Amino acid sequence: MANQLMDMKKAKILGAIVSLSFLSIHVVMILLFHHCGVWPMFYFNIFSILFYIGSFWVLHREKLFFYVVSVYLEVMLHMSLAVFFTGWNNGFQITMIGMNILLFFSEYLGRSMRYRHVPALPFSCFGMVCYTACYLVSYFHPAPYVLPEQVSFWLQIAWGIIVFVINILFLHIFVLLTFYSEAFLAKQAGQDKLTGLPNRHYIADYLHKLEDAEDLTKYWVAMADIDNFKRVNDTYGHNCGDFVLKTIAEIIRSTMKEAEVCRWGGEEFLMLGHLSSCTVPPEEQLDALRRNISEYTFYYDQQKLKLTITIGLAYHQPETTVTDWINLADKKLYAGKCTGKNKVVA
Ligand code: GH3
Ligand code: MG
Ligand code: MG
Repeated sequence: MANQLMDMKKAKILGAIVSLSFLSIHVVMILLFHHCGVWPMFYFNIFSILFYIGSFWVLHREKLFFYVVSVYLEVMLHMSLAVFFTGWNNGFQITMIGMNILLFFSEYLGRSMRYRHVPALPFSCFGMVCYTACYLVSYFHPAPYVLPEQVSFWLQIAWGIIVFVINILFLHIFVLLTFYSEAFLAKQAGQDKLTGLPNRHYIADYLHKLEDAEDLTKYWVAMADIDNFKRVNDTYGHNCGDFVLKTIAEIIRSTMKEAEVCRWGGEEFLMLGHLSSCTVPPEEQLDALRRNISEYTFYYDQQKLKLTITIGLAYHQPETTVTDWINLADKKLYAGKCTGKNKVVA
């Protein structure tokens, strides 16, 4: 399922923030290399600045895969050259480690948005090779340019902070996205799409948790089933059947305010109530619900429909499992169906 919290617009905004930040860093670097007379890096930075200006157009065209790969390669090349020309002691190589989080984050986004994603694993392994090669080259080959000690000092601090900020920011977004995506999926998994009511999985889970935590003898369950519902589908069509299901779900929800209501299956609804929260006995509440539905007129496509429901009510007995308890409500419902329908059997 596509990620509901991230879309192309937000991904483009994130990309633009990255481009703007990297562009600013390169402006500072070009001034620094100019000041220190590191001309190869000065010229490379002209290319980099043009590259980041161009990256906004790439984002605008929504070429996210190309954007991530090219930004990654630019950073790798830039930092490898910076280490080659000025040595290991200025901390340029730290940024190579910092790019891993951007790679994995964009792979996650690409996958969840069902977009062509960057394979972060091979790219980050390539980064590790670059990092090690930079160290070996700088170890065996003295840098042709030496930056003043003060500049080296501040560069080390600046790269450390920049990489930490990138890590903190993207890991934080990562955690939030994962958390909210899981919560969203859990909600969807427990909800019936047609009626908006909790579904069977949700209520079964809820009942089993309740079984462990509370004395269930204070609870009642009722199973309601629409009478002759198949006839509605057969006579007026499936869309009409759906409309009836939605309307009945609304009537049950508004009538049974003190109970948990769920769509148990096709045209069956399960209600769970607590005896102490009942101002009127459950039998009376359920009979009022039954009456409300039988008195209601459904209008669909200029057709008038009248419908009824049958309800089976069961109180929890000590030593009874949740499954047996629901089965008991089901049996009472069946008894109601066999004895004329449109009734509450307690
Ligand atoms: P009874 O009074 O004995 O309950 O008879 P019934 O016709 O209501 O029961 P039956 O079990 O024969 O039919 C249930 C029908 O519910 C069959 C199925 O097509 C329909 N149904 C189940 N889920 C949906 C749904 O989501 N939408 C629609 N339109 N129909 C559904
Ligand atoms: Mg039915
Ligand atoms: Mg049924």
